[in-house]
Amino acid sequence: MDHLPIFLRIEGQRTVVIGGGAVAARKAELLLACGARVTFVAPVLGHAAGVLCESRPERVTHVAGAFRPEHLANARLAIAATDSAQVNAAVAAASVERNIPVNVVDDPQLSSFILPAIVDRDPVVVAIGSHGTAPVLARRLRAQLEALLPMRLGALARFAGARRALVQRALPAHRRRAFWERFFSGPLSTQVLRGEEPAAEAEFARELNALRSGRGRARGEVYLIGAGPGDPDLLTLRALQLLQQCDVILYDRLVSPAVLERARRDAERVCVGKEPGGSSTAQEQIGELMVSHAQRGLRVARLKGGDPFIFGRGCEEIQVLIRERIPFTVVPGITAGLAAAAATATPLTQRDLAQSVTFATGHFAEDDRHDWQGLARPHQTVVFYMGVSRMEYIVSKLLDAGAPRARPALVVMRASLPDQRTVRGTLGEIPALARAARISAPALLIVGEAVSLNAPSSCAESAAVAPILDVLRGVA
Ligand code: SAH
Repeated sequence: MDHLPIFLRIEGQRTVVIGGGAVAARKAELLLACGARVTFVAPVLGHAAGVLCESRPERVTHVAGAFRPEHLANARLAIAATDSAQVNAAVAAASVERNIPVNVVDDPQLSSFILPAIVDRDPVVVAIGSHGTAPVLARRLRAQLEALLPMRLGALARFAGARRALVQRALPAHRRRAFWERFFSGPLSTQVLRGEEPAAEAEFARELNALRSGRGRARGEVYLIGAGPGDPDLLTLRALQLLQQCDVILYDRLVSPAVLERARRDAERVCVGKEPGGSSTAQEQIGELMVSHAQRGLRVARLKGGDPFIFGRGCEEIQVLIRERIPFTVVPGITAGLAAAAATATPLTQRDLAQSVTFATGHFAEDDRHDWQGLARPHQTVVFYMGVSRMEYIVSKLLDAGAPRARPALVVMRASLPDQRTVRGTLGEIPALARAARISAPALLIVGEAVSLNAPSSCAESAAVAPILDVLRGVA
């Protein structure tokens, strides 16, 4: 390491930015965010720098003219951001002479300090530097950390910071560290990260008291996570964050191996796969597993395909958790219907053709309670889940209820996965087309006028089924 990474306090101090363009303004904004005063030295100011001067006259000043070493008097640090190599070199030389730390934008040789790429979760700040060798790599790392670190990390740090003295008084030194470890890895911090600070505050006090009186025990928690349609890039950032910190993963059959790959390496993985709409015993066993793991103090990720609250029986699972008083967090996922629409460029609503969209099940546990008249009406899109084996039934019900045979229909199998397949046609012909194309679960049937607005040319898969389609249409 040839640079010392430090965080410098510059609040209230004089800093000098030489240059008046967009880059100079960005550097000035950073200095202002840290509470410094900024003097721009430049013959003229660009728009952004001008706005800074006008909007914060008490902290930003402008010396209109060419740079002279005297401009650095009493400066805590200097940043040269002009497009003249000569001026930048003069700033560097004058700064070194006066022992003022100087950064010359994009010139590590002339700089005595480097501005790192930062991930700002104030008061938590991650700084990434490459000693000026690979700023693009540093920025990529920054983007990865941005995705990994929860938005409310700063709030979590403040929450803990405000209670350090309290914990210090309550617990002897040798027990504090374990307490904080537990705090940051347990349900309390999840609660703060969810933005439920008042509730966390009460729980914090309870937990500290319990621990002080020797009654404390580790509390586990459950993350009910929607894993999306299969493509791991369609996981939400929060799903990724929680998958990185869980101890156990209970996953459904629909969750793709690629998604599991993104989870913490040493988390135990348990497939609780059940057939869609599986028996209630299976459901009960899943509930018991979640509860028993969480009661042992573990962080349990309950990973479900798509979204947990869309044909995911997520509701039954949280009822168990509520009954057993296990803390839980629900993370939405991209449901298969939305993924299939995006993957095939099919709009689900459209001003004239479809003014509502319905997600309907094609699997009827006991009896069919659909309002088929309603589902058959025009000017809407209906997405049927779990409907492959019932496609004939679904279509005949829609036709009986008055839907025209010519209404556009689309089947999407394994949406977002590398082996995604699509079949398009009309409502009348779609069951035969799907059968001929050997469509199997998981697949969706999408019906509605807006389905014809999609762009088949952009979907590689349609080319593969086009010949089958032509043949069947010719026969029909
Ligand atoms: N909770 C899930 C749905 C579970 S029901 C979600 O929100 O997506 C299971 C049904 O979802 C399957 O029978 C199928 O109709 C649909 N499905 C799930 N993943 C799919 C995918 N990748 N492509 C197409 N359909 C899918």
